[in-house]
Amino acid sequence: MKTKIKYTKYQLVALICFILIVPIAWFLSTRFESEKPSVTLELPSLSIKASQELSISVSDTKSGMRMIWIGLYKDGKEVVLLDKDFQSPEYKDRKIHKETFKIKIEPGKIGVSDGKAILRIVARDLSWRGWWHGNKTYIEKNVTIDTLAPEIDILSRTHNISQGGAALAIYRLSEPCPKSGICVGENFFPGYSGYFKDHDIFMTFFALSYDQGPKTEIFVKASDQAGNIKRAGISYYIKKKTFKKDILNISDLFLNWKMPEFDIDVPGDSKTAMLDKFLKVNRDLRKTNYREVTKLGGKTDAALYWKGAFIRLPGSANKAGFADQREYKYKGQIIDHQVHLGVDLASVAHSPIPAANNGKVAFVNSLGIYGKTVIIDHGFGLHSMYSHLSGFDVQKGQMVAKGEIIGRTGITGLAGGDHLHFGILIHNTFANPVEWWDATWIKNNITGKINDVKSR
Ligand SMILES: [Zn+2]
Repeated sequence: MKTKIKYTKYQLVALICFILIVPIAWFLSTRFESEKPSVTLELPSLSIKASQELSISVSDTKSGMRMIWIGLYKDGKEVVLLDKDFQSPEYKDRKIHKETFKIKIEPGKIGVSDGKAILRIVARDLSWRGWWHGNKTYIEKNVTIDTLAPEIDILSRTHNISQGGAALAIYRLSEPCPKSGICVGENFFPGYSGYFKDHDIFMTFFALSYDQGPKTEIFVKASDQAGNIKRAGISYYIKKKTFKKDILNISDLFLNWKMPEFDIDVPGDSKTAMLDKFLKVNRDLRKTNYREVTKLGGKTDAALYWKGAFIRLPGSANKAGFADQREYKYKGQIIDHQVHLGVDLASVAHSPIPAANNGKVAFVNSLGIYGKTVIIDHGFGLHSMYSHLSGFDVQKGQMVAKGEIIGRTGITGLAGGDHLHFGILIHNTFANPVEWWDATWIKNNITGKINDVKSR
């Protein structure tokens, strides 16, 4: 017997309602979604320079974008920077879920003067919320309009600098600058404030590399928070220098004695010829170690730790000079050329080495061709370096006084006999140590200039 399901009138109404309500509810919930559009603003800093590009990305994953508007508000006036209606014919009924705009702001051209301003951003999506205006994202950013480049006032007078030598420049900036310093050809030496009471006064120790000749351009460069850049010339005179030639004969005895020390740095098998290994050490490892040391030179304290002439290893003889042009000979053949960026000083074996001046120990370790090495930071980018040591008497981070024993001379690294390789590093450039041993040179070129600025 068939049983016929009988619906009551109420049940039927309920069923129809259910069939209709579910899709309608779903439809309405998507149309009334509450997710706000997301806005990402890319601005290098909160300062806007004379010509400033900003990038803004808007996205809305659900309904899609309705509009984006950006205005710059200053002194009661608002200048519209961007006004996009994503429902306009420009977008041909395409739904925009993500869009990026690049905007160039030129305050001078749009009549906005320097000073504090507000960047306002409004973005809406296509949701039916907000009485069919969409979900709204509103962002306000306080910015500073700064179209003027910093003023640079050079306070130190004539700068005499030798090829491979050092100098000091002192200058005052008219506004805070995250980056300022001296350009020496392609090289840049950062300036540091903090020495003078006036914190707008900066000091930069800089050096000419041994291979930078009299035509090298030297000037001060500063960029302010907005990125406005200013260059200022300094008066300088570059003294040309020619450096000595030196021949180093490499014997099998030396290779067999020294090369095993470099097994870790320059691995090779038993078939690798000793001479090949030497060339790898002398060329590639030298480059790697050089990079490590010059990188260390960039880390420094903004304090003038040192005072007076630097100490030269007592009772020692000069065995090699700064920037000696070294020719390496093996069985009468020239096999390599390198430049010696320090001074070699020899005394009796295992001589105690005094710290050349007051400073903070920045490095104590073995360093490839340099062997056991100590580097002292004397502040403002000036460092002294002691290599080929047999032992250390100091630890990293420790303050040392001029004359305090930091280690003993030795033959570690690429050294053929007990000696001290002494180097002076200014930021990332090796400079001639001879200048720093000379009290008159220091007075004329460094302390005299500092005192001159102090007394003004
Ligand atoms: Zn040396």
